Amino acid sequence: MNYFVNEKGYYGDFGGAYIPEMLYPNVEELRQNYLKIIGDAEFQKEFHALLKDYVGRPSPLYLAKRLSEKYNANIFLKREDLNHTGAHKINNTIGQILLAEKLGKKRIIAETGAGQHGVATATVCALRGLECVVYMGEIDIQRQAPNVARMKMLGAKVVSAVSGSKTLKDATNEAMRDWINNPVDTHYIIGSVVGPHPYPDMVSIFQSIISEETKKQLIEQTGNDQPDYVLACVGGGSNAMGMFYHFINDENVKLIAIEAGGKGVDTGFSAATTFLGKEGVLHGSRSILMQTADGQVVEPHSVSAGLDYPGIGPQHAHLFKTTRAEYVSVTDDQALNAGLLCTQMEGIIPAIESAHALAHLERMKFKGGENVVVCLSGRGDKDMDTYMKHFGF
Ligand SMILES: *Cc1c(COP(=O)(O)O)cnc(C)c1O
Repeated sequence: MNYFVNEKGYYGDFGGAYIPEMLYPNVEELRQNYLKIIGDAEFQKEFHALLKDYVGRPSPLYLAKRLSEKYNANIFLKREDLNHTGAHKINNTIGQILLAEKLGKKRIIAETGAGQHGVATATVCALRGLECVVYMGEIDIQRQAPNVARMKMLGAKVVSAVSGSKTLKDATNEAMRDWINNPVDTHYIIGSVVGPHPYPDMVSIFQSIISEETKKQLIEQTGNDQPDYVLACVGGGSNAMGMFYHFINDENVKLIAIEAGGKGVDTGFSAATTFLGKEGVLHGSRSILMQTADGQVVEPHSVSAGLDYPGIGPQHAHLFKTTRAEYVSVTDDQALNAGLLCTQMEGIIPAIESAHALAHLERMKFKGGENVVVCLSGRGDKDMDTYMKHFGF
């Protein structure tokens, strides 16, 4: 079974590049060049130097002793929360900004929902001195004022998307329109393993540093590079893809992806895509997405902004359909409680996204001695408001 992209840009039934004709030259330029550029020795040297000295990699693989005792298994946390800017997203934006430079691009565009990807993009644009334009829904701009201020301080121009529901979907449309109008000098940095081929493959390659490091760290700490379980939360699916990547062909390693159940999968306020979704096309690729009977995208809900997305990347759809990975969901409340538990048992405040992955541990049954790796995709500073309101601190 092949779990990776084929030469046509597909993962089984999923993937491809469903794009307007006018976007074809941009996407085709990327498709023809990305593997050659990423594989180049000089590119690799520059990428890894920045990951080390700017991002602070390798991120630790931390054996969480008290959580391990509680759950009767060895719980390892892959500490992406310790990266510069506080999450895994920077791994991808560093990779894409270097790639944009190699393609001779002078201008970067991105879309953002909660603003996390916008901040990670504005950060690398400041780092390399490139012009940065971030599209964001008008409503999200109002909801996410601190991240808007960060992007502006970093020198980015934040453009308000005022059409439709004035959220992520509309910001994506605006970014696409910009790219069509500026095909020569502009690179579009997509923030997850979504979008037309080659984006899902390219982003997963940049994020695969997570599992590459984890394997080495597991050998040092356990003598075996194959754990029993690997867990990660899924919005679009980039931290999960990075965490799964080098374990996908290790058939003994069980891969578990945790989606946002929101208020509950049956309540109409959920983002549990594999549970609620059907096959279809979203943001340029064929995947699984939440949609009405006549194919309109359903507005998702999650307490965590990063998981509040109506689809999953095409490789996840393939891993789901082939059952190579298991997809489960946890509710807002379960995630918030798991975030509090991790904080009070390990002294680590996780992002609410990452807390979804931790919450699934409650439901797993261990014999004792199993090695379990959980991707701690980000830190919880950005979520303090939500934690405070929920727990009344
Ligand atoms: C954005 C974000 C996510 C969700 O994105 P994926 O592409 O699914 O990884 C998860 N965790 C954190 C901390 C994020 O910022």
